[in-house]
Amino acid sequence: MSQTTIHAMGEQHMVHRTGWLRAAVLGANDGIISVSSLIVGVAAAPGATAAAVLVAGIAALVGGALSMAAGEYVSVSSQADTERADLAREADELARAPVAETHELAVIYETRGVEPGLARQVAEQMMMHDALGAHRRDELGLADDGGSNPVQAALFSAGAFSAGAILPVLTATLSPHDGVLYITPLIALFLLAVLGALGARAGGAPALRASIRVILLGGAAMAVTALIGMLTGSVI
Ligand SMILES: [Zn+2]
Repeated sequence: MSQTTIHAMGEQHMVHRTGWLRAAVLGANDGIISVSSLIVGVAAAPGATAAAVLVAGIAALVGGALSMAAGEYVSVSSQADTERADLAREADELARAPVAETHELAVIYETRGVEPGLARQVAEQMMMHDALGAHRRDELGLADDGGSNPVQAALFSAGAFSAGAILPVLTATLSPHDGVLYITPLIALFLLAVLGALGARAGGAPALRASIRVILLGGAAMAVTALIGMLTGSVI
């Protein structure tokens, strides 16, 4: 294994890890914002009991986690189906028209800056070594690991959402009933700011800007839900 191969693999691994981290932060953000908004919306309705607020919070946690899992499973599965169909079509083309496929590969390397004669040689050697692998990476642009596992991705998303969502549920449980309306959003905004800063730091982006952005958006979501809860509650 050459030096460049080791370097390329190390880089890919890092990108892969930041991808998971970003997904975890997004899932937790989602859990905090949606569940605390729901709690605040119910708590803002006149006459809402402590039990109603808590049931709403727990239902939002469970419903949200299942919805995240289902959405992620469907999305990753259909992505995998598409990739599998693309690969089957590619394998078929390789069997039927190897010359055209070698030319196709050579053109790809040429457009990436390889001199035509060398591109032709590289394409021919790639075709002999692992034709389908070369077309998968260089023509279709698919990763070597064959993409994510749908079940793993679904569990991961549901877990990240629940880890965020449990925090406003606990806050509402531990707060005095007449304080839920203020304490839940305050704690939620604090958690969002910390999470936003951590996520930004991990990705090498400015932390303060990320925190301010998530505080403004999360605050707006909770304010709108509280207003709607208050209005709906007084009409009903
Ligand atoms: Zn091809």
